[in-house]
Amino acid sequence: MIEADWTWWLAPEQRGKKVHAFGLKAETPYLEAACKHTVLRSRIEENPGKQLWCLPCLIAVGEQIPEDHHRHGDAS
Ligand SMILES: [Zn+2]
Repeated sequence: MIEADWTWWLAPEQRGKKVHAFGLKAETPYLEAACKHTVLRSRIEENPGKQLWCLPCLIAVGEQIPEDHHRHGDAS
């Protein structure tokens, strides 16, 4: 069965530029992420006024993260 309510995200490049997919209607104790994480709901923390956060990656569930176009990453 295909989960219809995935929320797909692309992490910024400094996070490895990985795609997360969270099944918000998952009935398991896990939220799957295409970043190879399968995290327990206890690892997903609700942020007040925000969405849910995948704690291992600090990626907010349900919010699209813009791709970092400055791939040279001059941190100055
Ligand atoms: Zn993750």
